[in-house]
Amino acid sequence: MKTIIEPFRIKAVEPIRMTTHAERTAILERAAYNLFAIPSRDVLIDLLTDSGAAAMSAEQWAALQRGDESYAGSPSFERFEAAVKALMPFRHVIPTHQGRAAEAILFSLIGGPGKLVPSNTHFDTTRGNIEATGAEALDLLPDAARDPRARLPFKGDMDLARLEDTLKRDGHRVPCVMMTITNNAGGGQPASLANIHAAAAIARKYAKPFIIDGCRFAENAWFIKTREPGQHDRAIPDIVRDIFSCAEGMTMSAKKDAFGNIGGWLALNDDALAEAARARLILTEGFPTYGGLAGRDLEALAQGLSEIVDEDYLRYRIRANEYIGERLIAAGVPIVEPVGGHAVFLDAKAMLPHIPPLRYPGQSLAVALYEEGGVRGCEIGTVMFGRKPDGSEQPAALELVRLAMPRRVYTQSHADYLIETIIAVHERREGLRGMRITQEPKALRHFTARFAFVSD
Ligand SMILES: *Cc1c(COP(=O)(O)O)cnc(C)c1O
Repeated sequence: MKTIIEPFRIKAVEPIRMTTHAERTAILERAAYNLFAIPSRDVLIDLLTDSGAAAMSAEQWAALQRGDESYAGSPSFERFEAAVKALMPFRHVIPTHQGRAAEAILFSLIGGPGKLVPSNTHFDTTRGNIEATGAEALDLLPDAARDPRARLPFKGDMDLARLEDTLKRDGHRVPCVMMTITNNAGGGQPASLANIHAAAAIARKYAKPFIIDGCRFAENAWFIKTREPGQHDRAIPDIVRDIFSCAEGMTMSAKKDAFGNIGGWLALNDDALAEAARARLILTEGFPTYGGLAGRDLEALAQGLSEIVDEDYLRYRIRANEYIGERLIAAGVPIVEPVGGHAVFLDAKAMLPHIPPLRYPGQSLAVALYEEGGVRGCEIGTVMFGRKPDGSEQPAALELVRLAMPRRVYTQSHADYLIETIIAVHERREGLRGMRITQEPKALRHFTARFAFVSD
């Protein structure tokens, strides 16, 4: 059959409260046009993030009941540890309450003033945790991957030549080499297995540990299987083990590819580093057999890890976003291509050339999508990145609206509704107005800034 169906039946449902266009206009006004300020009950399709928003399976809900809440030595930890090690063969697995806690522990140990941590692209919490120790975070994405319209199969690859240059020139400052899979920039662009192995080999040549931020490892493995020569016949768990076998450690947000609503871990091979990490863990998260999580959470993650590598799931997952992308491209809507693993990005700069960057075309588009169809996405552009520490403002490189897909939550008719909403806004794009910020905090302004439309 050609039709790819959602490979699950729905057992528990959560009603969506329908709203009218007029209600949404009033809701937007009350929220001062900041979508973070809108209560989720007023959102029809919530694509603000894919993080922690997955629907758990019947087996995961059943596993919660098995959760053993013993402070030390819980069998739930043993099941969690075994599930992680079955895919990622590291010697030490240290649970944390989310990915950023794993990052904070790791960089409190190996970061520090003067240090330099290269990556294909650091996720913002990773960058934040590196910089908080006084170290520098360096992104080494190949130039070709920065073009939103370049249809390359592995736009999350590391720029290997620049990695080698960095290690040659500044190697004494580098405590580890990192790689984020999939790369969050552009909505989950994958790195090839060949590139991951080559980056690891360069790190090894300079005696640097290679650490993978593995948040979307299963989606990345699916792209390797379907796009990389010689990988088509391999099973997903086999590819996953191949990816992690070349690393000395990993950080993980289990709110992504472990079907968790909360959770994360730090995994390491180095015994001394792991011992130091567990000492930090006890200070900040909890005892090493639960790390900031309840025993039942560990059970849900163990079960989730066995489900996330299922090929029927991954085929549906990746196809769902491709389908949305194909329909938008056919309608002339500019998007980041190819579509990544966990999100579709609309290119607001290309869609709204009449709105200059400092009038926030991405924000205007995100607001219009909410007003048109109750869809909540997220501006990733000058609102998010434009304010500099000295208070000045500069246009971001790209003006995007990210539509991130929660796992197993929405169906094809939700996708069709989303497509219809986007096309309706696209057809009246010339009438969309720019915006200005009427009030903003000093940092991370996108979460709480207040906006108004400009009349010019
Ligand atoms: C979400 C995410 C993190 C941080 O994880 P949290 O669980 O949100 O703390 C780190 N890296 C990447 C690539 C992510 O997507």
